[in-house]
Amino acid sequence: MTVEGCIDTEEGKATLASPRRFSPLTAAMLACLLAAACAHGSKPAASSAKVVLEGARVFDGEILSGPSTVVLEGDLIRAVGPRGSVEIPKGARVVDYTGKTLLPGLIVAHAHVGHTSGTEMGRSFYTRELVAQQLTRYQAYGVVAVNALGMNPPLFYTLRRELNGHTAGADLYGAGPGIGAPQGAPPQMQVAEDQVSRPRTAEEARAVVRDMAEQGVDMVKLWVDSMGGKVPKLAPALYRAAIDEAHRNGVKVAAHIHDLEDAKALVEAGVDVIAHGVRDQRVDDAFIQAMKDREVWYIPTIQLDEANYIYAEHPAWMNEPFFRAAVEPTLQQHFEDLTWQRETLASPEAAKARKAVAINQENLLLLHQAGVKIGFGTDSGALPQRIPGFAEHRELELMVQAGLTPAQALRVATSGSAELLGLKDRGRVAPGMVADLVVLEVDPTQDIRNTRSIHALWRRGVEVR
Ligand SMILES: [Zn+2]
Repeated sequence: MTVEGCIDTEEGKATLASPRRFSPLTAAMLACLLAAACAHGSKPAASSAKVVLEGARVFDGEILSGPSTVVLEGDLIRAVGPRGSVEIPKGARVVDYTGKTLLPGLIVAHAHVGHTSGTEMGRSFYTRELVAQQLTRYQAYGVVAVNALGMNPPLFYTLRRELNGHTAGADLYGAGPGIGAPQGAPPQMQVAEDQVSRPRTAEEARAVVRDMAEQGVDMVKLWVDSMGGKVPKLAPALYRAAIDEAHRNGVKVAAHIHDLEDAKALVEAGVDVIAHGVRDQRVDDAFIQAMKDREVWYIPTIQLDEANYIYAEHPAWMNEPFFRAAVEPTLQQHFEDLTWQRETLASPEAAKARKAVAINQENLLLLHQAGVKIGFGTDSGALPQRIPGFAEHRELELMVQAGLTPAQALRVATSGSAELLGLKDRGRVAPGMVADLVVLEVDPTQDIRNTRSIHALWRRGVEVR
């Protein structure tokens, strides 16, 4: 398919906005929305088209309300209120969503793009086509914004500019390459030189951060992890300099950690986001208090460890279309290999990962109950088994398993993550917000797995699914 096939004519837009009117363009336009090659060809022009979404219950990013009316104008939400209380504009297209539940699109604050394809990973997958394809996948799963937290080569800056503001895939934000220790995490076997900066002195760390800020990163990423004592950790003098320089440039800093000791040191050093759950031990009162006092965000990423064994268990949901559609054929085949299943489940890594999930869940509940700010992240896309789109729905389920209510988990994944990323016009269903909406068949506040019942998806006021 050519980009020309996606030209956003007036006719094309009308077709997209009214599925009842099938013109020959419809199939091509819908195919465009699924085709990565067209990702930059479907930016909607500013429009004042009015759409009324009628009758759905609304989870607004905080709480669930009864049957409501939501008025969209162009790419924004214009009005929201109980059904019957909001005036329906003349000439508006009305879509009946009685019985359904509508919520803001999900926002994932820790994920990665352009790293994997099927069972493989490597620098060669960071291409315009593959990144756009992954953003399309995220969107199909109701994820409307992705914060690619490190390991991005320079192409990231171009893609971030080009792909955002469109309706073909999730918006891309991120940290550029990120900063790791020489010979340290992330392992040099897994990333190319242009995907991670490895400064050796505090001055080099400052220069690297200044360059990232100039290029327009949304966040600076640090890796502070000895990978179980196997590699050198980023030195405190370097991460202190990086954090200070980022703050001088008005940029937040997120840190990859595994252990409580490192998380504490980074909070003390002024980090803004702890980008993984603490997984070596239960968090203590001093850490909880420091997180609260300094208003540091905490992103648990529970699915990351679970992905190391759950697919070998072959739970029933792996047969459902919702899962299968997210998995490329070679990866699907890999998961079905009985020898791999047996060896994985018997491995010490699986036992370690189960323990990490349990500690992560316990810590999430403690921090959430204490009022620490929780962000939504999965680390999906970093390794083949961390499956973009599906991982986000599974993460919600794991958060509820940890003890959050479904509404609390959804709040984290919508208005919470929007706040973390500074996206002031996203993450809520309210007047003035961008109309990025997911419509579900079944109420997710009753059972979080109902987030998988996606009925329709709206991006910037346009129905895309
Ligand atoms: Zn990551």
